Amino acid sequence: ESRNPAEPEFQQAVNLVLDNLGPVVTRHPEYADAKLLERICEPERQIIFRVPWVDDAGEVHINRGFRVEFNSALGPYKGGLRFHPSVGLGVVKFLGFEQIFKNSLTGLPIGGGKGGSDFDPKGKSDAEIMFFCQSFMTELYRHIGEYTDVPAGDIGVGTREIGFLFGQYKRITNRYESGALTGKGLVWGGARVRTEATGYGTAYFVEEMLAANGSGLDGRQVIVSGSGNVAIYAIKKVQALGGRVVACSDSSGYVFDRAGIDVELLRQVKEVERGGIAVYAERRGAVASYAPGKPVWEVPCEVALPCATQNELDTSAAKQLIESGVIAVAEGANMPCTPEAVRLLRDAGVLFGPGKAANAGGVATSALEMQQNASRDSWTFEYSEQRLREIMRDIHASCFETAGKYGRPGDYALGANVAGFCRVADAMLALGVI
Ligand code: NDP
Repeated sequence: ESRNPAEPEFQQAVNLVLDNLGPVVTRHPEYADAKLLERICEPERQIIFRVPWVDDAGEVHINRGFRVEFNSALGPYKGGLRFHPSVGLGVVKFLGFEQIFKNSLTGLPIGGGKGGSDFDPKGKSDAEIMFFCQSFMTELYRHIGEYTDVPAGDIGVGTREIGFLFGQYKRITNRYESGALTGKGLVWGGARVRTEATGYGTAYFVEEMLAANGSGLDGRQVIVSGSGNVAIYAIKKVQALGGRVVACSDSSGYVFDRAGIDVELLRQVKEVERGGIAVYAERRGAVASYAPGKPVWEVPCEVALPCATQNELDTSAAKQLIESGVIAVAEGANMPCTPEAVRLLRDAGVLFGPGKAANAGGVATSALEMQQNASRDSWTFEYSEQRLREIMRDIHASCFETAGKYGRPGDYALGANVAGFCRVADAMLALGVI
């Protein structure tokens, strides 16, 4: 902690992983000898840069850009870009650190990294977004590439932003290097199912978790936090698997929909019109009610999927969920549950799917996008979704089996941390002290 002051989210993410690695180091003294734990906590490279841009009124703004290239033992750095006012080095480092283990768990050849800016895309015109993205890429381009570092989207960065970023990358480098960014649109190098992948993957992971415990999603009452990319497609797939999603949220509050969330209307309001959840409630009429400023966790449910942001589900939320009879919580977002909340859930016997496993479908499908770019191919929706489903099944199995092997059956967090770590650790050992 003295090494990384003022980076609370990063410290939290590191502690969560290190807490689980004691028994691994006991079994593998060679990891300790090579100081792998110390090495894995230190990013290979951190880049911080100025992002100047001019708004529609002609005023000059200065934002800060980040890219943390954390670990490339398994492959090129891979991880999203986040545009949100809360972004700082500590947030980017926590996300990059998580990404190492998540990417390892997918079994695919990708290292871990993350980036972003404290730029707030809310309320900005398309032109302002474009000029910001162009300025951001004017520095970032020299650090990324198919074989070095492959960014993608995250909070505040969707297909529109990836388009502007890719356009500027192509213009500066004079290369149509599709594999340099993922999350691209279908007609310019994107892959089918990438948009849906994180949310679909989270739903598949919950289904696997419930099935491993003799149960299923069919007929279950489900709540989801957030209403962005991950949330929308988690809702869609949960519904397809028979769950009843009755509430979701955004940064303004939540909506309770007695008839079940109308996912197409939600998509129209949030993705197309870029409006708030209140607009959804208004259009739905009598079946829906909007609770401004309230957390979604107060809605009774059997399954809860936090899909918005870090530390959004705290102890009071966990207590409410336990009282209402929740049986499973899976993290669609990165580290949305505080460590104390996770402890409460686990002590109450609630199944808990950590983000690095439950939301790994997004980055896995990004790696599939890289494969398609490398072979100049484009797979069908059905084949891509089948690959995603198999990957999520394998990730679940790997967490489940590892937890059992280390004497903590059902502890998916331990399973994910240990299984994710061991693959990276073996690669780091083989590559020498670098
Ligand atoms: P989006 O920007 O599409 O959506 C984010 C959603 O969360 C919005 O509904 C937003 O509300 C809400 N939100 C964001 N910040 C806050 C906050 N501080 N308080 C309350 N609500 C908030 O992002 P994504 O769906 O892409 O990402 C969501 C989470 O999933 C993040 O943790 C991300 O790191 C993680 N993730 C995303 C992946 C992906 O493929 N997209 C892959 C793996 C993980 P509003 O609409 O009001 O802004």
